[in-house]
Amino acid sequence: MIEVEHLTKRYGPRTAVQDVSFRVGKGEIVGFLGPNGAGKSTTLRMLTGFLAPSGGAIRIDGIDALAKPIEAKKRIGYMPEACPIYPEMRVREYLRYRAELKGVASRAIKERIEIALDQASVKEAGDRIIGQLSKGTRQRVGLADALVADPPILVLDEPTAGLDPNQIRQVRDLVRGLAGKKTVLVSTHILPEVESTCDRVVIIHRGRVVREGAPDQLRQAI
Ligand code: ADP
Ligand code: ADP
Repeated sequence: MIEVEHLTKRYGPRTAVQDVSFRVGKGEIVGFLGPNGAGKSTTLRMLTGFLAPSGGAIRIDGIDALAKPIEAKKRIGYMPEACPIYPEMRVREYLRYRAELKGVASRAIKERIEIALDQASVKEAGDRIIGQLSKGTRQRVGLADALVADPPILVLDEPTAGLDPNQIRQVRDLVRGLAGKKTVLVSTHILPEVESTCDRVVIIHRGRVVREGAPDQLRQAI
């Protein structure tokens, strides 16, 4: 479903991502593990079409994502580390705006919002003002945003960053609940956060893939 080949990103003289290749099958949950600065965000942002690679190829569902970024983007729900959130909007109002932006058919929007709120366990906050929500709840609003257009692929960049252990558990359970329904790519810098949720982990270090495998295979390696 996702094929990444020899992906490279340079920021001026600095190479942030170097010759990264991996594949993700339909319905798989894959974790991207690496310390801060390893190149996880840069990789995920190229995958989601927010950042142009310096080299390499990305295919999503057989579509050349670099040649047809809009087609590719439609298939992906992306939750950036810092969710771009409108503090003055109410949650349902925000999701409506986002659904419209993503081209969800107007007659489907209402239902899609309720399903996304439910999938992200954030229904009780639906009528609240975003700026007044806790970080954990805002994170779940970000997840509802990623889900609102019902994309087959979800890309979650450090969804647990800055959350407390209880909120981390909630996010983990949410990701686990998507197993079999969505193809999920999730980044983190802490292995325990992905080992119980992911089918496979790709370890990134200094912009390169250094290892990949099932979480229990990688335990001894870390
Ligand atoms: P991670 O998500 O693993 O923390 P990033 O992909 O954010 O890593 O960053 C990889 C490297 O690229 C880091 O050294 C970072 O400082 C650098 N980098 C990221 N974005 C930019 C940018 N816009 N300009 C220059 N360097 C950047
Ligand atoms: P992450 O590691 O999760 O990407 P960062 O705090 O490193 O988070 O990056 C936040 C933003 O700053 C991103 O848009 C990234 O591209 C940019 N950035 C990161 N490092 C640099 C850098 N060295 N120079 C310029 N921009 C950077």
